Amino acid sequence: MAMMADNVFLKILDRSIPAKVAHDDDLCLAFHDVRPQAPVHVLIIPKKVIRTHADVTAADREVLGHIHLVAAKLAADLGLADGYRLVVNCGDRGGQTVPHLHFHLLGGR
Ligand code: 5GP
Repeated sequence: MAMMADNVFLKILDRSIPAKVAHDDDLCLAFHDVRPQAPVHVLIIPKKVIRTHADVTAADREVLGHIHLVAAKLAADLGLADGYRLVVNCGDRGGQTVPHLHFHLLGGR
């Protein structure tokens, strides 16, 4: 069954809306946040549909580990050798506004 692009990140994944892509591979996509909260603000998302951090299962170990490796590499590539924040908002009361798991990579300030 075709994936329903019912949120903005699925639309970015299927390229029906544009994004400034920082990294793309089989498991994840990283792109610059449209409303950056820091000089570097990249979002890293799994290609697999995972709606929130609370929905992860043991089957997601590989993609979650991979996202952390990509985050560290992007931080180095984007000039964040001095440090950065990697943030996940989970659920309505955790400040999550887009219902597809995403990691905020923030730094440069
Ligand atoms: P949340 O609040 O769910 O943790 O973070 C969602 C993030 O997605 C926000 O920082 C917001 O600026 C970003 N965002 C929302 N819509 C778009 C979009 O269409 N393109 C990009 N690149 N980022 C978006």
